[in-house]
Amino acid sequence: KHVVIGGGTGFVGTQIINSLSRKGVSFTCISRMPGPGRMSWHDLECYGLPDNTTAVINVAGQNILDPKQRWSEGFKQNVINSRVKTTQSLAKAIINTKAKAFVTISGVAYYKPNDTEYTEESKCEKYDFLSELCHRWEAAAQLPKDSDIRQTTIRSGVVLGRDGGMIKQIYLPFFFGLGGPIGNGKQYMPWIHVTDLVNMFIFSIKNENVHGILNGVAPQIVTNGEFTKAFASVMQRPALIPVPPIILNSLFNKERAKIMLEGQKVIPKRVKDLRFEYQYPDINTACAELVNKNT
Ligand code: NDP
Repeated sequence: KHVVIGGGTGFVGTQIINSLSRKGVSFTCISRMPGPGRMSWHDLECYGLPDNTTAVINVAGQNILDPKQRWSEGFKQNVINSRVKTTQSLAKAIINTKAKAFVTISGVAYYKPNDTEYTEESKCEKYDFLSELCHRWEAAAQLPKDSDIRQTTIRSGVVLGRDGGMIKQIYLPFFFGLGGPIGNGKQYMPWIHVTDLVNMFIFSIKNENVHGILNGVAPQIVTNGEFTKAFASVMQRPALIPVPPIILNSLFNKERAKIMLEGQKVIPKRVKDLRFEYQYPDINTACAELVNKNT
């Protein structure tokens, strides 16, 4: 078995690779930086995928919430291209191989934030920059109808893990007792523990009955306020200082601050129907792992 993984150097990608290695599966990582076990996106265009490829994953994408990056047209284009173009290139390359599965990531920003309970079957028109991005990202992953490669897209919620994403950003403020909810904390915060997301990728590669959309979220629905409480409790710190929307809007621009200020009520219906087993189905168990306490 040999898995090719776009964005394998990132927070999620590294964990996927660790998990594959533990299972004795070999891999090639596609990265902008050269290194052992890596190929570049240019190599992919020129030479295609390695002959022995059995599955392809894409989790590449320029970090949207990088506070150092101004929300300029140029940066927005980078955000789009790093997801849509990479996915497109892999979709094109995979058809000429003997690979059996193509699994890509997308986001819950596909769904419009309101009180609707969204399952994988819910259809949503694009309504803003991020939802349009998700639509294009998912469209880029589609394979020709006559292809017998299984294609799965995981619409991920906020990924919780010690080594990256949101937890890495908020760890220190919470540690110093400066943490708190975002805005009024009433917005939903669709989330998933990184271990469960990684397992969902492996599950999608392995199981021949998995294809189409999976909501990459935990079964327990929480609000940002509820998450804040759970995280502060395992950190044994108060978390009373709310982050005012005005600060996020001015630091990030409204268009991307939305990721933090608004949330969708997302249910992993198909994931549960497929009998995927979560290691961290509830926020307290997940938070306990994040600060390395036994549950
Ligand atoms: P990271 O920022 O940790 O890693 C992203 C990877 O993408 C890097 O390994 C990098 O590889 C590659 N990358 C970055 N910019 C570009 C670019 N301009 N062109 C090509 N490749 C690029 O992200 P995460 O692991 O946290 O997230 C992975 C994916 O999952 C992203 O697409 C993200 O949008 C999506 N996602 C993440 C969530 C989260 O909470 N973390 C939630 C929902 C979706 P290299 O530098 O080696 O080229």
